[in-house]
This record gives sequence, structure tokens and C-alpha cells, in this order.
Amino acid sequence: MKEHIETLCVQAGYSPKTGESRIPPIVQSTTFFYGDSQVMADLFDLKREGFFYSRLANPTVDALEKKVAALEGGACGIGCASGMSAILLTAMTLCEAGDNLVTASEIYGGTFNLFSATLKKFGIEARFFDVDAPADDIFSLIDERTKFVFAETIANPAVAVLDFEKVAAVCKAHGVLFIVDNTLATPALCRPLSLGADIVVHSTSKYLDGHAAALGGMIVDGGTFRYKGNARYPAFNTPDESYHGLVYADLPAPFGVKCRAQMMRDTGAVMSPQNAFYTLLGSDTLALRMERHSRNAEKIAAFLAGHPKVEWVRSPALPGDKYHALAQKYLPNGTGGMMSFGIRGDKSACARFMEHLRIATQETHVADVRSCVLHPASTTHRQLSEEQLAAAGIASNLVRLSVGIENADDLISDLTQALEQV
Ligand SMILES: *Cc1c(COP(=O)(O)O)cnc(C)c1O
Repeated sequence: MKEHIETLCVQAGYSPKTGESRIPPIVQSTTFFYGDSQVMADLFDLKREGFFYSRLANPTVDALEKKVAALEGGACGIGCASGMSAILLTAMTLCEAGDNLVTASEIYGGTFNLFSATLKKFGIEARFFDVDAPADDIFSLIDERTKFVFAETIANPAVAVLDFEKVAAVCKAHGVLFIVDNTLATPALCRPLSLGADIVVHSTSKYLDGHAAALGGMIVDGGTFRYKGNARYPAFNTPDESYHGLVYADLPAPFGVKCRAQMMRDTGAVMSPQNAFYTLLGSDTLALRMERHSRNAEKIAAFLAGHPKVEWVRSPALPGDKYHALAQKYLPNGTGGMMSFGIRGDKSACARFMEHLRIATQETHVADVRSCVLHPASTTHRQLSEEQLAAAGIASNLVRLSVGIENADDLISDLTQALEQV
């Protein structure tokens, strides 16, 4: 039986045996006991499944990995310390010096820095394309050293919606991996693996946890990409000398195994059992919350679009938005709580507006149950000049709003009184 997302949110990932705790226990232990040395040897040879050291696997983290893999419809999950470490491990599993990756420019700022500055120091080149660019432009960036193409389902903070069909076709034609950051859509609204993606990454710090309680990341391997004989991926087709001659392409989920056995082993960027527990708890209500975030955002985007003190609104939920048609195609049940809008006025008008908000608070965070706002021009992007801001697509009057699950009428009253101060 294929269960729906609402059922998987509360049921997937953990099933207790008689007498065991109903919800996954926090297994706060670095290591695990074995009385039999052959069993331990088999674990190290990956011939048997089990836990031996929490840097490689832990039962609480395992429950979350299984849950998110089930939500995304993938083969396996890998819990990481943060969203950034999930993306870093993904890139490290695939690339070495001399390789390149092809990515949408409309991505999270941290990912942009990782790709353009940090990976560059290790000889890995990032090639950028505009999400709206035609398939041919993406095609022309790919060569034999391209290891993956990367994009976000709903871009943070650009709120652009990914054209899956366009990018998936390019990747398929080249036999290159298509990796999607599904943080802001979540599997409750969109499942990239069913739309042509091969690997999905998440910052679980956002909607998956949903309560701003725990930092975390997750990698989900779809498990269907064929590495065997694909000349683009020699590291999957030749023996790994650091893992006594293992050939990853021969295994059921080559990427997932290589990522854990090699890169998690060598970096230790692992999720803690405590953070996995908070995220498990939060994700129980993911489907319910995403429904409410989406309905609230639809009402608030419409309200803002009709307000005289608001110059413009960017939300894929708004009919008339540049990405509305793609949203209807790929996110038919809603687009979550993220939007941005421009206040008629300068930076100080934005500051006055935000200081008068009583419900939505100013935070460097998005995608949790509480509404929050941020003015990038005076915070995250304050080092940039007016010209640089314009190049980054960030107007000086842009306010980013992450709509929470409060009552929509209360949020609208709050926005109304704060806009009166502008
Ligand atoms: C926040 C975020 C990240 C980074 O996640 P952290 O958990 O903060 O490391 C990556 N991608 C997207 C889309 C994000 O919103």
C-alpha cells in the first residue's frame, strides 16, 4: 500500500517492537556493544547492518533518515549537522579537484558562498545559470567534468519556482546527476525525486523541524541513478582503496553508501541524536503545518498586493506572479510561507515598519511556526553597495516575510497597523 504524506509524517521511520518505546528514544551513546568479533568485522565490511559508532550511524538519527527518505520516496537518508554540511558532503562525495558543478544562481546565500568561494579553493569550479534561462544555456555549461546540476525547488530568498522538466531533460541527456534542495517546499508540497531529481538535500533546520529548535541537514539518495559504466563517474566505477577495494557502482544505493562510508567517516559532520529527536517530533506535523503556512501566505500576499504602501509583492502563490504557472504545475497544494515585498519608501521606512510589528519578529531565520521578517539591505546584505544590491536582485526596500501558522486575520491586522507607520 502506498501511503499518503500525512500518514508517513507520523508513521514512517520507526516501528517499535513489543515493549519498546512508542516514539523513537534518544540513543545518547557514541558507541554500541558487541560480544562477537565476527559480527563487528561484518559491520565494518558493510556486510551486515547495525550500529557501531555514532559518527557513522545512530538509532535516533536513523529513524529520522528513514522518515525523510520515505517522505521523499528515496532509497536512503543521511542525517547531517546542518543544511550546509548536507550540501558540502554531497559535493565532496561527487567532486574532486578539476571537476565542476552547474548551479542555478538563485540559491541560498550560504550555498552560493560554498560553491563559489570555498569549493573553488579545492579546485572545484561552480558554473552559474539563471533559473529562467532556456535549457540550451544550461546544456552549454555542462562538460565531461561536470558532476552535478543543482537548484532549489523554491529558491531562498528569490522565491523562484524550479522548472523541473527543463532541468531534468538536460541532465538526462548528459547522464549527469540532478540535485535539488527541497528545504522550502518540503516533501509535503513537492517531491523532486518524482520529477526527475536524483538526490534531494534539506536544511531540516527550517520546515522539517518547524519550531526553530534544532539545526540539521538531510541528504536523500533516490537510488535509481545508474553509475555503472557511466564514464562521468570514475570514482563510482573503480575500487575505493580507502575502503579496501569497494566498488560503489555495484551497490544498491551507490551515492548514499559512498557519502556515508567515505565522507561522513572523514568529516564527522553528523546530526546529533538530540537534534534528530527534536526534528522527528517537529516533522510529525509537517503536512498539517505546510497546509496552514500556504493558506496564510495566500491571504497575506493578496492583502499586501492590494495595499497602497506596498510597491510590489513576490509570491508564487499570487496569480500574476512570474512563477505562478510553475507553482500550479509543481506545487499544486501550496507554496509554503515565504514571500518578499517592497515598501514604498527607503531603508528607514522599512525599519519603521518592522519595528512596529507585534507578531512577526525580526530574525535571521525562516520557515518556522512563528512569522518572521528580515530586511536584507540592512542586515544579511548590508556590506553591499546600492549597485551590488541591484545586481543581487535585492531592492533596498525589500522585506522578506516568512509567514507562520498564526491566525491569518491577526497577521493582517498586525501588518496593517505597522504599514500605517510608514
Ligand atoms: C537555511 C538553508 C540552508 C542551510 O541550512 P542550515 O541548516 O542553516 O545549515 C540551505 N538551503 C536552503 C534553501 C536554506 O534555506
